[in-house]
Order: sequence, then structure tokens, then C-alpha cells
Amino acid sequence: MHRAIYPGSFDPVTNGHLDVIERAAKLFDHVIVAVAANSQKQALFSSDERLELLRQTTACHGAKITLTRLDGLLVDFARQAGASAIIRGLRAVSDFEFEFQMALMNRKLESSVETLFLMPKEDYTYLSSRIIKEIARLGGNVGSFVPECVAAALHGKFASPGSAQP
Ligand code: ADP
Repeated sequence: MHRAIYPGSFDPVTNGHLDVIERAAKLFDHVIVAVAANSQKQALFSSDERLELLRQTTACHGAKITLTRLDGLLVDFARQAGASAIIRGLRAVSDFEFEFQMALMNRKLESSVETLFLMPKEDYTYLSSRIIKEIARLGGNVGSFVPECVAAALHGKFASPGSAQP
């Protein structure tokens, strides 16, 4: 059983994340999508909300994908979950430096877990949750960048002025 873990903030999940999940699901028997609960980034959605949006948007993969919260150290979780790989998405060269540092540090902490980088479809290389939140906050249409339920959730967050800060 080859298992991988795909960690991230997913605040909220975008078509880019979903593209990476789909690619990972083709390579592994099982993919655990782990929502970092204590990310240093200030989140717009609570971890429960982020998990719920992921639940709705990954349902098509059935039991192949499981969702979880990630509270502690990623490599500890990966070891406990029996995952042999950490999946990360690479959009552009700008992602590389941070991802390279993280991958080498994780390897130092746990040499049995390999980091694997997957590149999304070209159309998604410019997508980030941060940019999606900014567009939604300014009243732009995010319909082609995120699934419908995510667009609706973003709309809900920004519907009343001053109700949310991305
Ligand atoms: P973001 O940078 O959007 O806040 P996350 O912290 O949720 O993203 O990212 C989790 C992982 O998903 C990271 O490896 C990130 O590079 C990757 N990722 C995010 N958006 C995309 C995308 N559009 N295409 C491919 N990978 C992505």
C-alpha cells in the first residue's frame, strides 16, 4: 500500500490544489490531505471550514483520499500514518526556494519520507489561495479558479463589508 500525504493550508482549496490531488491519486494507492491547523499564515477559513470544503470537492475520489487536520510536525505525522511520500505542488520558480529548503529539512528529520513535487496544469500555475481571496474580497469573479462551493463560501465571507480580512 503506497500512501502519500499532501499538506497545506488550503485556505481555501483551489483548482490548483485539486489538480495536484488528482495527480497524486493516480500515483498512490492512498492520499492523505492534511490541513495545517496552526499555520503561521493568518487564515480566512477555520480549519473545520477548510476541511469541509475539501470534503465536498474531493468526494469524487471516494476512499482513495482521506482528510485530516495536521497539528504537529509533518514528518512525525507521515511516519505514524505510514506515508512514504510528502506531496507538494510547484507552480513557478518562486515556489522553489522555500520548497527546496523544506524538503531537505524534512529529509534531515526523517530520511524514510521522500518529498515529491507535482506540477499542475499550466492554467493553474498562477493560482494561489492568497490571490483568490484578494480577488473575492474586491468583488471579482473567482468562478473559474475554484469549485462552486468554494466560490460561494468566499462570497459568504465577504458579503457584508468588514466581515472578514483575508
Ligand atoms: P497557498 O500557497 O495557495 O496558500 P497552500 O499552503 O495551501 O497554498 O499549499 C499547499 C501546497 O499546494 C504547496 O505545495 C503549494 O505549492 C501547492 N499549491 C498551491 N496552489 C497550487 C497551484 N495552483 N498549483 C499547484 N500547486 C499548488
